[in-house]
Amino acid sequence: MTRLSGSGIGLGVAVGPVARMAEPEPDPVDEDSALGADAERARAREAIAATVGDLTARAAAAEGTAAEVLEAQAMMAEDPTLSEAIDARIDAGATAEWAVHAAIAEFREQLAGIGGYLGERAADLTDVSRRVIASLRGRPAPGLPVRDEPYVLVARDLAPADTAGLDRATVLALVTADGGPTSHTAILAREMGIPAVVAVGDVSSCVDGETVIVDAAQGAVVVAPGPKEREEAERRADERRTRAGATGPGVLADGHPVPLLANLGSPAEAPEAARLGAEGVGLFRTEFLFLGARHAPTRDHQVAAYRELFRAFAGKKVVVRVLDAGADKPLPFLTDGGEENPALGRRGLRALRAHEEILRTQLEALAVASADSEVELWVMAPMVSTAEEAAYFAALAHEHGIRAAGVMIEVPSSALIADRILRHADFASIGTNDLTQYTLAADRQLGTVASLQDPWHPAVLRLVREVGVAGRAAGRAVGVCGEAAADPLLAVVLVGLGADTLSMAPSAIGDVRLALSRVTRTEAERAAVAALAAEDAAAAKAAAQAVVAASG
Ligand code: PEP
Ligand code: MG
Repeated sequence: MTRLSGSGIGLGVAVGPVARMAEPEPDPVDEDSALGADAERARAREAIAATVGDLTARAAAAEGTAAEVLEAQAMMAEDPTLSEAIDARIDAGATAEWAVHAAIAEFREQLAGIGGYLGERAADLTDVSRRVIASLRGRPAPGLPVRDEPYVLVARDLAPADTAGLDRATVLALVTADGGPTSHTAILAREMGIPAVVAVGDVSSCVDGETVIVDAAQGAVVVAPGPKEREEAERRADERRTRAGATGPGVLADGHPVPLLANLGSPAEAPEAARLGAEGVGLFRTEFLFLGARHAPTRDHQVAAYRELFRAFAGKKVVVRVLDAGADKPLPFLTDGGEENPALGRRGLRALRAHEEILRTQLEALAVASADSEVELWVMAPMVSTAEEAAYFAALAHEHGIRAAGVMIEVPSSALIADRILRHADFASIGTNDLTQYTLAADRQLGTVASLQDPWHPAVLRLVREVGVAGRAAGRAVGVCGEAAADPLLAVVLVGLGADTLSMAPSAIGDVRLALSRVTRTEAERAAVAALAAEDAAAAKAAAQAVVAASG
């Protein structure tokens, strides 16, 4: 039995056999064939046929976009023009490996030169090339393993294209050597509700077929566990499954309610959120509806989308955020091109204000859609950094008949003057993702500074406290809707700092509900005080953990 440790994502536990993601094969080198052209041609044909068969089988097992991508890759692999280009190189003396590599590279460059949709397919061709070459070498195909039985996926890290193929029914858990708690893999795992332990380092003891326990709550991976450990982990996994089926409101051990809301980007996600026990929507990211659009969405188009969302949450609170364009989410009809530093540019409310007609249309669409619905509609503005901006937005929203007009607190300035902001805004919702980015001056898109992107940092917690104190003094609701609310222990601290509601990826609701149910409000406040007094993020987490462990 070997125990590995890393960063756990969520509180999940899973037991199952390892399926390793094949490491990428080295590129072939240009060398003369020792086998002769006929034999090389036959090898190439056989490897292409095997790759086409594999891709077609994967496409049949997948759904939606993933299936389309795999079908398109199979078609690329069997394109006769490609076979001719491979044969021509083999006839000139190349090995099948080199001929495939060089011919596909040439096709890829042509596609990339065309640009647009075809240009984007260039990466898919690289994957086809790697698959055919792996087959020629008798090695496993790169990418997700194909298994009939559920498995624990062990990988160095996950590429974005692989994430499209992840199947929740087959992937019991994830273990990665690289990545950090805010990496793409971690966010994805949390969103999909898959237990994960990342940043494990050396995963060589996780060999194919070996049984492992993935214990995200402990940040541990147990390789070849004994029967006692296995039984205990299976019991905990069962317990969690039962709990995931359990719904009910968020409430502390002393009966104090903390409504648990969902972060959504599309009305299509609503049924799953409701199934997982979301008590409403705490952040509806409207810009996600229009990311591909070149023109501002019409009023009627928006009314239809909002009505669909409101139908799913009749009788509940729904907090809609007006378009948050800019930086990582550019919308051509709102975003200024060519800004040197778009995260500090005209984004969020600043962009909307520069195109006020778009903001007015959106507020009108929200008012119309809510008029014939039963939701309690709250509307908020992103990236507010001054009290004047808060006053501007609240006045405009009220003018359109929106009763609850709030602001997101994502910039340190607005956290520091939350008392003044809340003179104008009806509520505040703290966006810890951007608040952390701006407080620590660490781009949330950049892996090299990911370790600074930690909402446990006491500087971030102090700003959250400012907002909590201001909210209580003004009698205004304060919610948290950044990723931080999905971390069960941090959720306790956020409540202790004054958050009235928490909004998160729906898959996190079960774990957060459990963590909150174990502490009283006084204990949550004690955990917050302990975290605030720490020197850095790790110490803050350890201090909160110690208080919570001693509670109850
Ligand atoms: C945030 O910044 O925390 C937030 C919730 O908004 P987004 O992640 O969409 O920027
Ligand atoms: Mg934000």
